[in-house]
Amino acid sequence: MNGIPKIPTPFNEPVLSYAPGTPERGELKRTVKELSGHQLEIPLVIGGKDVHTGRTVDVVMPHCHRHVLAKAHQAGPAEVQAAIAAARDAWREWSAWGFERRAAVFLKAADLLATRYRPIVNGATMLGQSKTAHQAEIDAACELIDFFRFNVHYAERIYAEQPLSVPGVWNYLDYRPLEGFVYAITPFNFTSIGGNLPTAPAIMGNTVVWKPAATAVLSNSFIMRLLAEAGLPPGVINFVPGPSVQVSERVLADRGFAGIHFTGSTEVFQALWQQAAANLTSYAAYPRLVGETGGKDFILAHPSADPDVLATGMVRGAFEYQGQKCSAASRAYVPDDLWPGVRDRILGMLAEVKVGDPADFRNFMGAVIDRKAFDKIKGYIDAAKRAPGVKVLFGGGADDSDGYFIEPTVLEAQDAEYRTMSEEIFGPVLSVHVYPAARWAETLRLVDETSPYALTGAIFAQDRRAVEQAKDALRYAAGNFYVNDKPTGAVVGQQPFGGARASGTNDKAGSLLNLIRWASPRAVKENFVPPRSFSYPFMAEA
Ligand code: NAD
Repeated sequence: MNGIPKIPTPFNEPVLSYAPGTPERGELKRTVKELSGHQLEIPLVIGGKDVHTGRTVDVVMPHCHRHVLAKAHQAGPAEVQAAIAAARDAWREWSAWGFERRAAVFLKAADLLATRYRPIVNGATMLGQSKTAHQAEIDAACELIDFFRFNVHYAERIYAEQPLSVPGVWNYLDYRPLEGFVYAITPFNFTSIGGNLPTAPAIMGNTVVWKPAATAVLSNSFIMRLLAEAGLPPGVINFVPGPSVQVSERVLADRGFAGIHFTGSTEVFQALWQQAAANLTSYAAYPRLVGETGGKDFILAHPSADPDVLATGMVRGAFEYQGQKCSAASRAYVPDDLWPGVRDRILGMLAEVKVGDPADFRNFMGAVIDRKAFDKIKGYIDAAKRAPGVKVLFGGGADDSDGYFIEPTVLEAQDAEYRTMSEEIFGPVLSVHVYPAARWAETLRLVDETSPYALTGAIFAQDRRAVEQAKDALRYAAGNFYVNDKPTGAVVGQQPFGGARASGTNDKAGSLLNLIRWASPRAVKENFVPPRSFSYPFMAEA
């Protein structure tokens, strides 16, 4: 085509309220009922074709684990090999497609998700990942729509970034896709991340092998359907749920492996990096390794903090989605003069919090994702109950008879280095250390040095000097830093997300910085008046 089409200006998808009487509420409730009313089969998708291997695992509701929502087919070595081959085949055409053709696919995907697919993907996220309607809406619908729209916009900006040309010479950059395929490995906790990790490289012209988390496979399978309906050609993204270690071993052994797009725990990313490093000499090119990993996100209160704002930030920041957000506040530092009032406010709010089936819209929290998470979180709480110097101020209960339910739990730890103050628990547990108000400077150091992570953090203060001191002292303690706000809820296009230290490569999901990792630019110089003689003027006789 002739013309340079402009990508529509992106905007953040408005969050629907699901309040009583709204049309979206009725539609979502109907979809949840329908999805839970019959058992689905979730196939692999390789080269655009559904693949049923017959080896299945049960997909259950975390809040009612006897209820099997679906049987998910599992990849074995042959299917992984087929997915790699399909990605390689699709690459020839897809990597050569014009940007406007690729952009159209993802812009359409955004609109499909904003409309017909919205209740389906939200409903599947509520059922399979135990999110409330609001948590599903801000993740599975709004954030993923934003990823699609903003990433296309950022890709346009990258492509527009071109070098200088001089008279007689035309210079330009060709932002080539990587020569090979990208391996996307996605976590359970955000459907939007499930959708973003394979599609961000695809927007840049790459093809992908996608291994979703077993516990998010229901919502993720609908994203595959949505992308096919949006016009994504067969083989551009290949969906291979399966045993993670075996799938990864196969993928990382392939010569065409060109990069990892990962979100999940620190240990898994480090293991993948080591495996890639061990295979390095067998790859056609140096792989791009992009990973967003664990966190031990903090809230630090200065004596000047507003107690109502602080208590609200602590409750929302720590307990929404059962504390299973990588950004969830899990350690807090509150000065002794503020603490009694803040503690009473927190306990008052938590007394009103309802935990249960997300299909009942009165609940603020659902269940944690699976047995493994339940046992791990309960283990931390049980140990805290026995530990000297630790008080359970709220919650502490856990019940797995129907679903993997854990009460929102607040611990007060005298020892600022106690394990719940420094290790990632990934559940509804907030540990508070009360510090002497006069020891503000020491507390800043403590926050910075207590954990190996550096994902998110928040400072609550009304004193401007304190805000500036915290911003300076904690410059490397968080990749996403909040002032007088909870450390969760980053919005695409507004707060590019990611952390450093043990929290990841900080390539900022949903931003230009991330997309650029999926391109390998070629600089082209066209000389319109090339020289015709080898000699230079300085060589002439004086
Ligand atoms: P996880 O590491 O258990 O799993 C992530 C993915 O890796 C899944 O697809 C899983 O199947 C796969 N996997 C697991 N073991 C593997 C192995 N040995 N080899 C290859 N792949 C393997 O993480 P999770 O429980 O799904 O998610 C929770 C973690 O993710 C937390 O640590 C959280 O902080 C982190 N997280 C980080 C961010 C961020 O942006 N920094 C966002 C969301 C989640």
